[in-house]
Order: sequence, then C-alpha cells, then structure tokens
Amino acid sequence: GVFSDPLVLRWRRKNGEIIWTEQRNVPIYDAQGNLVAIEGIARDITERKRAEVALHDTLAELRRSNADLEQFAHVASHDLQEPLRMVIGFLDLLAERYRGRLDRDAEEFIGFAVDGARRMQNLINALLDYARVSTRGQERRPVDANRALEEALWNLDRAIAEAGATVTHDPLPAVLADPTQLMQLFQNLIGNAIKFRRAEPPVVHISAQPMICPETRIAMWEFQVRDNGIGIAAEDIGRIFGLFERLHTRQEYPGEGIGLAMCKKIVERHGGRIWVESVPGQGSTFHFTLPAAEQR
Ligand code: ADP
Repeated sequence: GVFSDPLVLRWRRKNGEIIWTEQRNVPIYDAQGNLVAIEGIARDITERKRAEVALHDTLAELRRSNADLEQFAHVASHDLQEPLRMVIGFLDLLAERYRGRLDRDAEEFIGFAVDGARRMQNLINALLDYARVSTRGQERRPVDANRALEEALWNLDRAIAEAGATVTHDPLPAVLADPTQLMQLFQNLIGNAIKFRRAEPPVVHISAQPMICPETRIAMWEFQVRDNGIGIAAEDIGRIFGLFERLHTRQEYPGEGIGLAMCKKIVERHGGRIWVESVPGQGSTFHFTLPAAEQR
C-alpha cells in the first residue's frame, strides 16, 4: 500500500504536557476492493517539533536584530554623525581660539574630549561599513579573484611599504561574488596580517584550492591568507569574528574590532565559511570558502 502524507497531531497529556505525534495511515482492502481496515504507525516527534520551534524563534530573532542593526546604521549615519561633527568642530574652535589663555588642565581636557569624539566617529563609521555589507551588497557575479586582490593590495600600498611586507600569491580562480566585497575581504585579512606582525617584516601568502561543499555539493574554492605574525591563542579564536571583539588595546594596535566581523558577514552572505588556524608566536592562516564561478 501507499503511505499517506504524515498526519501531525498535537496532544495534551493528563499532566498538562504538550506532545506531538506524526502518523502515517495505510488503507487495507480485501480481494474485492472493499476497505476493511486502516493500519497506522504513530511516532512521537515532540523533540523535533521543539527543535523546529526553537530554530524558528532564533531565525525570527536574527532577522529582527539584523533589521534593528540596519535601522541603527541609518540613524547613525544621518542623526548621530551630524551632532558629533558639531561637537568636534566647536572643540577644535575652543582649542584654537583660547590657545595659551587656558591653563594646562583645561587644554588637556579639551584634548581628551576631541579624542573621545573622534573615536566615536570612527566607531560609527565602522558600524556603518558593517551594516552596509547587507544594505549595499550587490548581486553575486563571476569575478576574477586576482583582480580583487590587486585592488586590495593597491589600497594597502602604504601599509605594505611602511611595514616592509612581502605579499605573494598563487594564481587565483574566478568565484561568484560581489566584486567590492571580495576586495574588502582581501583588504581586511591582508591588512590584519600586516598589522599584527612580530618584530620581523611581515610575509603574507594568498592561495586557493578547489573543494566541494560537503552539505550542498556545490563547487567552491577555499582561499588561504597565511601570515608570519603574532598568532592567536586557541582560547581567543572563538571570539575574534564577533563585532567589536579585539584582543589588544588600541594603544598596542589601532582598530575598531570590526574587520573580521565584516569578513564573516561577507563570506556568509556568499554562502561560504571563514575560520582561522594559528600557532601563537609563529603566524595565522585565515581560510574562507566562496562558490566557484563555474560549477565543475
Ligand atoms: P581590529 O583589526 O580592528 O582589531 P578585527 O575584527 O579585524 O579588528 O580583528 C579582531 C582581532 O583578531 C584583532 O584585534 C586581533 O587581536 C586578532 N587578529 C585578527 N587578525 C589577526 C592576524 N592576522 N594575526 C593575529 N591576530 C589577528
């Protein structure tokens, strides 16, 4: 016999507990074709139902917090930046007009206030960049990763020269990506590889190898950005992709702690994954996957 579609039923136990069952029925006919019985199998699917509800809630929550963030980014750009610019403008004016007429403390306090306001401006800009990964993202299209890398290296030109860094790469493939975001990805990862260097000059290498996503069977490329920098302790690896997560003070290494969160958002938006392997004191290798431009 052919099984019917499962019938999902919700039950209330005597003790008040709600359980779910899934039931499949099969009609049984005699030789003349008369229905004589219905055979059924019922299974308790309460656990699965709970997991589904939890997943649904999590997704709803995630969508809401993304929407909140985008809303915030909008507010940040239009409503927060303007008054902040005013604060900075008047502080600068104060410092300039009253130079030499205020005591040392007063001048120092103005300096702190300017630093704080500038810092807030940087944070707002960083948060805007982060939110724009989804609001300004373009459609994925075939992109030559060599081109995106070249652009990133061009933008990093000064940092590379100042650090005396050597950046090399294998020939890279074409992937399905938003070209600007692929460039940003390389720029963030290579920028970090140079920033978090040890005493010796940074050596960075970028490579890629083909792979098949085990879940979707889609042809992907796994990129690697390898450095010889300070490395990351095993216990910190889980944190670094989070928003505003940093392992150092801004005095040690400048930054807002948003670069890797952006990288993660970019890669995941393209259906890929990002992770890092590192030996503290020797270097780190950041890995990320992107869909291949041509399915093999
Ligand atoms: P930022 O660079 O502004 O600090 P990121 O989100 O780019 O923020 O990085 C988060 C943290 O991860 C950094 O503060 C640093 O501690 C660590 N990190 C990132 N890239 C590297 C790297 N290549 N080598 C060592 N540590 C790194």
